[in-house]
Amino acid sequence: MRANSLHALDLAHVVHQQTDLDAHAREGALLIARGEGVHVWDTEGNRYIEAMAGLWCASLGFSERRLAEAAYRQLLELPYYHTFFQKGHEPSVRLAEKLTAIAPRGLNHVLFQCSGSEANDAAIKLIWYYNNLVGRPQKKKLIGRIRGYHGNTVAAASVSGQPHMHADFDLPYGGRFLHLSNPHYYRAHEPGETEEAFSARMAAELEALIEREGGETIAAMFAEPVQGGGGAITPPRGYFELIQPILKKHDIMLVADEVICGFGRTGNLWGSETYRLEPDILTCAKQLSASYQPISATLISDRIHAALIEGSRKNGTFGHGFTYGAHPVACAVALETLKIYEERDILGHVRRVSPAFLEGLGRFRDHPLVGDVRGIGLIAGVEVMADKARRTPFPPERKAGLVVQKACQDNGLIVRAIGDRIAFTPPLIITEEEIAAMCEAFGRGLDAAWAVLRPDLAR
Ligand code: PMP
Repeated sequence: MRANSLHALDLAHVVHQQTDLDAHAREGALLIARGEGVHVWDTEGNRYIEAMAGLWCASLGFSERRLAEAAYRQLLELPYYHTFFQKGHEPSVRLAEKLTAIAPRGLNHVLFQCSGSEANDAAIKLIWYYNNLVGRPQKKKLIGRIRGYHGNTVAAASVSGQPHMHADFDLPYGGRFLHLSNPHYYRAHEPGETEEAFSARMAAELEALIEREGGETIAAMFAEPVQGGGGAITPPRGYFELIQPILKKHDIMLVADEVICGFGRTGNLWGSETYRLEPDILTCAKQLSASYQPISATLISDRIHAALIEGSRKNGTFGHGFTYGAHPVACAVALETLKIYEERDILGHVRRVSPAFLEGLGRFRDHPLVGDVRGIGLIAGVEVMADKARRTPFPPERKAGLVVQKACQDNGLIVRAIGDRIAFTPPLIITEEEIAAMCEAFGRGLDAAWAVLRPDLAR
């Protein structure tokens, strides 16, 4: 590696995020140079199918000119303004109007931020603020789920249930965060336990938690309709049907984290639609702008909004906001994205190609490395197991998921290993031919990984 090569400079100066920095220091990074449709090219000229749409987000692929042009037009018209101090601008108004029109019922007001983490952080602050305003300052605890993922700010990482994001970061912060078991049926069910019985066990755990802590101390539960960062985990049958009435009974808000699921990923506009959630707050990001600009939204109910106005009667200024919240360029790009979704019927497209996607990956259930394949719409997770008959995982030090991920990369396919779960969330524009190519490359990757992992098993 030349000292001034891009890779050497990267190693010298860029601190990579969510990365094994020790492995990175030895091996360096895959540097991506350009993209077209569902493909990206690295700096060496190798082409990959991007089966993760970046980070579950580049819904329109990597070369949508209309989004670049929308950004350019807005940059010429008004490159920056804010929504502080009773000021505002048209792109934020138009986007808020559009978003609230398509949002689940009753969510008529929006706060804009730059990231999913900030959207969830804002939700947490609003929940605490709201409960102070309505005279129940003791109702502040927040429920998340082990392996749930809601972001990286102090509060969003605290409500998340990712052990590596807690250890040594002194998180969860401040004693207000509670975590339920991960409702991952495949890994966690007892022998002979049905999905429905498993869901009932999960619901009983929630009830016991509320009993233990006191419902009057718990403000909200955060849930992704389909868990992304936990390993592309679809909820077991009956889960949310049992969870929601328990929350309602104790006046505990439900925050639907739609940062991954929002805008068609599960085959409906919202994951909340797919799983019949009735959230009090909904957060979204990523596919909101096809990720061509950083923007997220926190949608809130009339009830919460009315309390905020009441709060200003009491406190004066609503003390929350970001310089880049509702950035006009990001709002303009998000508006154009939503227009493209409708004009091209992206939702209809997802529904049309989803069977090819789920059946194509489903065929790998017969592979000796694959214990389970699950998914919905255009999101899927594949479980890599040492002994699928006994549901025995590989020992963590084998890094079996990473072996598969690397073997796929060597075969022109970018997927993501989350432990030994392989996640797929291709751009929503992926065609059936591209899905076939994706599955073919995955097959080659799995076989190559099996060749590496199998001798280790025999040892
Ligand atoms: N919530 C969910 C469900 C996510 O998947 C993510 C990011 N992967 C976030 C929140 C955080 O979003 P960001 O990285 O934009 O802060």
